[in-house]
Amino acid sequence: MSALHRALAQIVGERGVVSGHAARTTYESDGITLLAAVPSAVVLPETTEEVSAVLSWAHANEVNVVPRGAGTGLSGGATAIEGGIVLSTARMTRVLNIDAETRTARVQTGVVNIHVSREAASYGLMFAPDPSSQTACTIGGNIAENSGGPHTLKYGVTTNHVLALRAVLPDGEIVDLGHDTGATNGYDLVGLFVGSEGTFGVATEATLRLVPRAEATRTLLGVFDRVRDASESVSAIIAAGIVPAALEMIDRLVIEAVEAAFGIGLPEDAAAVLLIELDGVEAGLDEDAEQIEALCMAHGAREVRRAKNESERSLLWKARKRAFGAMGRISSTYYTHDCVIPRSRLPEILDVIEDISARQNVKIANVFHAGDGNLHPLILFDDDNPEETERALAAGDEVLEACLAVGGALSGEHGIGAEKREWMSRVFTEADLDAMKRVRHAFNPTGRLNPNKVLPSPSPCFDWPKKPRGGG
Ligand SMILES: Cc1cc2nc3c(=O)[nH]c(=O)nc-3n(C[C@H](O)[C@H](O)[C@H](O)COP(=O)(O)OP(=O)(O)OC[C@H]3O[C@@H](n4cnc5c(N)ncnc54)[C@H](O)[C@@H]3O)c2cc1C
Repeated sequence: MSALHRALAQIVGERGVVSGHAARTTYESDGITLLAAVPSAVVLPETTEEVSAVLSWAHANEVNVVPRGAGTGLSGGATAIEGGIVLSTARMTRVLNIDAETRTARVQTGVVNIHVSREAASYGLMFAPDPSSQTACTIGGNIAENSGGPHTLKYGVTTNHVLALRAVLPDGEIVDLGHDTGATNGYDLVGLFVGSEGTFGVATEATLRLVPRAEATRTLLGVFDRVRDASESVSAIIAAGIVPAALEMIDRLVIEAVEAAFGIGLPEDAAAVLLIELDGVEAGLDEDAEQIEALCMAHGAREVRRAKNESERSLLWKARKRAFGAMGRISSTYYTHDCVIPRSRLPEILDVIEDISARQNVKIANVFHAGDGNLHPLILFDDDNPEETERALAAGDEVLEACLAVGGALSGEHGIGAEKREWMSRVFTEADLDAMKRVRHAFNPTGRLNPNKVLPSPSPCFDWPKKPRGGG
């Protein structure tokens, strides 16, 4: 047994340490498997005090620590690229309290996103941010990435739903940020912490805002023969002043994968479908639904279907939320990109992506939050084929370039992590980056909590993205 294992086991017990090579390898990456590094150990504390003791020990012994929730992240954030230990919140899964009167939940941050809404359902409440990974991802991961989801078009992203946090700083100090009422006195440190990608501290408990479940919903599926018509319909719906709860686009390749996996009944000959949901009080929903149907038809929809009951609605959402998983039916590997563009540029950017796909000779599927202009091009490739992998990565770079060229942003919800840190210099000036470094330094002066993430490194020593796994 190594000295590292013994030191960690003294804090969290034998059950709380993973040190065998095979077991550690399961923590080598997050959802970006091209970027992998096996940590020296994985530690699984159960309480804030244990997290504090682990971080104090790591601080004293100059060991890097990488926080990890469920490892569903898509920017390499939970990967120990500079070595060190992974601190997993997988045992911190309790919903501590639900207060129906104040509409809040106090949770440990390792709780799975959907479990919060399940617990809150009996009070008629829910936690609104609903990443498509919500059956697996944790609240801690959502906080770190400031995650979104299909329904954040109407309800906002994670930062709009976190009132207070308990966090452990890299030297082991426990701090409480914000207030359960949501009041901000002085600087909004909760706002600063949310989206810090595990580089400021480890969030161990959070007070979340819950919202009432909608009284009624209308869920529509617009079917289009041309992708351009679908994207023009998106702009037309928003321009008409309607704010759907969700407005998602799924293109033909994704439909093909979803149908192969689940046989839901999406039209396989369509170029794209729009999944549109309205929610709120019953009065007025039908009028809005009719207006959306008319707008889609005016912009070239072949038909607009309406879910007749809850089971039809669930089936449509299954198609969307399980789309990423279904991609395995048509490709051995895919690389999910995440960037944001001004919504009005959607039609032209989708044309550009099609051109990139043809030029790089890789298939690119699209399933994304169209209402917010948050694209997710899925670049399909075979990671056993180094040359094809290079083309897939080059296509990804070109997509990012194209999004930036139309005034877009590097990430909508998956974060910068290790994946896009070198791109930060393209978007921000040295002065901007220096200001960000100084903010990080206030929380994480040694830089040993989640090192070499988010900000570009003066000497990147991890070979990404040039060295695909399995590709030599
Ligand atoms: C199929 C699929 C669909 C997805 N759909 C969406 C989507 O719709 N919207 C969206 O926003 N994202 C989506 N994602 C990305 C991902 O699920 C989110 O980023 C999610 O919030 C990550 O949560 P996690 O628990 O898996 O975090 P991890 O991947 O384990 O970690 C992510 C980051 O959070 C940090 N972290 C984790 N826990 C803590 C903590 N307690 N304190 C401090 N830092 C911490 C880690 O260090 C890392 O930097 C999707 C991913 C997949 C695989």
